[in-house]
Amino acid sequence: MRIESIFLFILLQYPRHLNAAACRETPMDLVFVLDGSGSIRDENWELIKSWVKLVAENYDLGGLTQIGIVQFSHWFPNESAQPYLKTEIQLGKLKTEAQFKEAVDEILIHGFTTYTAHAINKTVNDDFMRSDRFYDASVKKVIILFTDGRSYDRNDLPLSAKYARSNGITIFAVGAGGYVMEELQIIANGQVNNNERVITVSNFTRLNSTVDILKQGICAIQGNVDINSQFLLRQLRCVSSI
Ligand SMILES: [Mg+2]
Repeated sequence: MRIESIFLFILLQYPRHLNAAACRETPMDLVFVLDGSGSIRDENWELIKSWVKLVAENYDLGGLTQIGIVQFSHWFPNESAQPYLKTEIQLGKLKTEAQFKEAVDEILIHGFTTYTAHAINKTVNDDFMRSDRFYDASVKKVIILFTDGRSYDRNDLPLSAKYARSNGITIFAVGAGGYVMEELQIIANGQVNNNERVITVSNFTRLNSTVDILKQGICAIQGNVDINSQFLLRQLRCVSSI
């Protein structure tokens, strides 16, 4: 390698390392919203859990990052109890990587239907809004939603995704197996044919290839979303785009 190219290499790499360190230190509430539908076989559920643990390794649970997990499958109409839209790990509850990984290992798959929109609503209301940092503008709010197929409540997806966005939450939609691209696009950014924050893999065994993409994508989110001042604007923007 010539001297000039080494210099260029360092120039290109150095800021990225600085950013990576800075991102690890960024205050963030991150919730994995995991499809626990019956189409995901046991061995694939294990791959999903390994992937979640790898993504989590990029953050400091004892520091400024809180990570939670919601598993979803079935939603019962007209019921207040929804055992299959379930908070498996509460945001901020586990303060070490070891505790987090142990808790992830213990999560058993539900194995029913796929109420993705209801899962998003539940995550905003029960998980993010109950975080004592929800109104702290300096805290990034992020959902990593994983699904392997078509949702039963797909007509509700546009509004649910808007609801999350209007509360300052950025969603990454990750699909494997029989995912529906249009649904992932609606979930991640609200627009069909827009792949921003949409990540797909053909096979569950390739999930780990998304870890660095997620890390960089999360790092690139502009912080300081002030819900208090932007909420009205965001609501208006939602209405005008219908
Ligand atoms: Mg499924």
